Amino acid sequence: MIRSTMQRVPLSINSLVERAGKLFPQVEIVSRLPDKSLRRHTFADFRRRTRQLAAALLAAGLKKGDRVATLCWNHHAHLECYFGIPAAGGVMHTLNLRLAPDEISWIAEHAQDRFLIVDDILLPLFRQLKVGFEKVIVVPFSGAPVDSAFLNYEEFIQKSAEAFSYVPHEEDDPISMCYTSGTTGRPKGVVYSHRSTIIHTLMANQPDYWGLAAGDSVCPVTPMFHANCWGIPYGCVMMGIKLVFPGPHLHPEDLLALFQAEKPNFVLGVPTIWLAMLQLLENDPARYKLHAGMKMLVGGAAVPESLIRSFAKLGAEIRQGWGMTETSPVASIAYLKPELRDVAEDERYRRFASAGVPVPVMDLRLIDENGKECEWDGASVGELQVRGPFITGSYHNVPQEPERFTDDGWLRTGDVASIDAHGYIRITDRTKDLIKSGGEWISSVDMENLLMAHPAVLEAAVIAIPDPKWTERPLACVVFKLNKKTTPEELRAHLSSHFAKWQLPDRFEFLDAIPRTATGKFWKLKLRERFRPAAAEKN
Ligand code: ADP
Repeated sequence: MIRSTMQRVPLSINSLVERAGKLFPQVEIVSRLPDKSLRRHTFADFRRRTRQLAAALLAAGLKKGDRVATLCWNHHAHLECYFGIPAAGGVMHTLNLRLAPDEISWIAEHAQDRFLIVDDILLPLFRQLKVGFEKVIVVPFSGAPVDSAFLNYEEFIQKSAEAFSYVPHEEDDPISMCYTSGTTGRPKGVVYSHRSTIIHTLMANQPDYWGLAAGDSVCPVTPMFHANCWGIPYGCVMMGIKLVFPGPHLHPEDLLALFQAEKPNFVLGVPTIWLAMLQLLENDPARYKLHAGMKMLVGGAAVPESLIRSFAKLGAEIRQGWGMTETSPVASIAYLKPELRDVAEDERYRRFASAGVPVPVMDLRLIDENGKECEWDGASVGELQVRGPFITGSYHNVPQEPERFTDDGWLRTGDVASIDAHGYIRITDRTKDLIKSGGEWISSVDMENLLMAHPAVLEAAVIAIPDPKWTERPLACVVFKLNKKTTPEELRAHLSSHFAKWQLPDRFEFLDAIPRTATGKFWKLKLRERFRPAAAEKN
């Protein structure tokens, strides 16, 4: 019998705070304030303020495992919460400010949030919540005086000395929690640990994935309440990377102005943000420009190939990632494996438009309708299932659900996909978005991507509507680009390059906008409610 001689020191995100403050004291954290001015902090400030926040929370009576909710935009104080709450032994719970007040209240009650840290400009939303937080700490984000009924975040942390000892912990202790947005059912809480977060960060920061390196500057457009901002805050603090936070200003014009001012070379967000930005860049190239060499991490929903090609023309490289709140979230990223480096351009784009290859330290399998594992042949279609140290094994305070976890402990993602022989995943649908027509599946994702490649189409979402003869038929909802138009006949002709005649939608609906979920994705449930007969909604 031989034993490892390695020390057993718990993995800890606290070590990242200390390292960033000591090794990268001058690196900046820039936040755009409500009045659009920029506030600058350094990682030295971040370390001091994070420790002060932790000390203040302890002085206010925070106990180990207590939940501290945040209702905040992306900015320096939210970053301090990411680290300061766990440093005090608490669990940061990021609330999604785009949900309805009743939903936020339900989630905060379910998580038993004890304290709340909220932006002053979000107090009108806070006032609509029906939650009895014990303490409400207001970030004076706009600079206006804070109502004396609340604690002022700046005064709260300034009162505490920097001298502070991290609350001891095990590596499996919780640090943060996030609820799935409930697009497909009741929101469910996922709780992350020091261990899962450190392993996920080390993994995602490999050169073939995020590849963050010294001198980079990152602008997270992804909200910090959406799946840990995809883990990027941890990656940036780990490597001492400059952060540029957009605050509440997420309109494409505002983002482009920020990009011009601070020149981030790495940005992240869901496809709908970049679709809207592309309109501006294409319609008014003299006014709006993207600086060359920008890397864009895009995910949360399928990324149309046309979007990747259009941004490439503007000098930016889109990297697609697939994942979910339950997977911390990075589970696959598209990059070119060495054997594909010399393939033709079309093939290269096809790979970049896939969900990429599974990341390491995680197992992934594809299970067909009969429960059998599918071949990785690019044709067999099944549900993606995953297992690993940064994949959730249950939901917070919810009885184990067989439809979400298999008997042998794998997470059922609810995403339907094929995987080719090189390991590239192609997501064809979410289980609930599948279209079965005449006994055959039609991929809504493929159809949407092709529609969005049409020069007149800005956005497209394809849903199933019941049909007495075919079971279901696809219905395409389409939004035109500014001053552009086309006809159903032309769109059908465009689709027939890749789809058989029986697969083409009989019905097109031309809309002003596709409804969005609270995380900015196309909300197909709303479209189905609108266009399907009431009794026929899929559960
Ligand atoms: P929500 O359920 O509210 O959308 P998540 O942000 O956790 O919450 O979303 C995870 C889901 O988003 C995945 O299960 C998948 O359906 C979809 N998704 C994420 N990334 C991609 C991608 N690159 N391609 C296609 N779908 C994606």
